[in-house]
Amino acid sequence: MRNDTSRAARRNGFTLVELLVVIGIIALLISILLPTLKRAQRAAQQVVCSSGMRQLAIAWMYYADDNKDWLVDGWPDRDPNRPPGKLPPGRRYQIPFFKGKAWGAQYGNSEAAIREGALFKYARETKLYHCPGDDGWHLVSVSINGWLNGEGSPGATPEVIHKRSDIKRAADIWVFIDENDWRDYQFGYNLGSFMVRRYDLHWIDAPGIWHNNGANLSFADGHVVYKHWDEKGTLKMSIPPYDFNGVGGIDLKWIQPLTAPK
Ligand SMILES: [Zn+2]
Repeated sequence: MRNDTSRAARRNGFTLVELLVVIGIIALLISILLPTLKRAQRAAQQVVCSSGMRQLAIAWMYYADDNKDWLVDGWPDRDPNRPPGKLPPGRRYQIPFFKGKAWGAQYGNSEAAIREGALFKYARETKLYHCPGDDGWHLVSVSINGWLNGEGSPGATPEVIHKRSDIKRAADIWVFIDENDWRDYQFGYNLGSFMVRRYDLHWIDAPGIWHNNGANLSFADGHVVYKHWDEKGTLKMSIPPYDFNGVGGIDLKWIQPLTAPK
């Protein structure tokens, strides 16, 4: 009688070994599925980001329409005490794209700063200014092309264009990009303006890599391009320990002609 009962119990239950095997199989399945799920999540985020980038590009067009063709200021004001009009020669004061007031100052990374930005009137959701793939501490991770009424690049500021009508081929000039700032980890906050040198192969700012090692860029005609970065050096700028030697190759050669009008 006792033997029958224990046999029945054995038939109905799991032995420890069976349980371990089942747990092992589940763990194996999870380890196989997780990278796939992560990739799928990244792909979904890329689509959401792309939609936001398009809305920002359209907001950027509306701004020019409402301001006699002047482009929104692409140079976040780094000096909170600088009065309007006291900008370098050749630049006209306008409210910046958003107010990143100083390197290291946290104000630039606030919802208040985004709401005060000149484009907020046209793109009225703070999440539009942040890439959903960026899981860092930034509220703003979308930056504007420094050549479009912004910083330009060292030694070439006069070539910066100020009016939308000066852009001859809108489909060939990007306006917004996912940016990751490696300098955050050394100097503090430095986002909003993305600079690209035209004449030599050195990066100044680091593009985001959150969409399966790529970034979104929206263009002056409103279309959005996903760019996968093909160089290890481009990725290293965004991966600890943030190796930034600045030297660029095919990725930088891809973005250079799309950055500044010729
Ligand atoms: Zn993005």
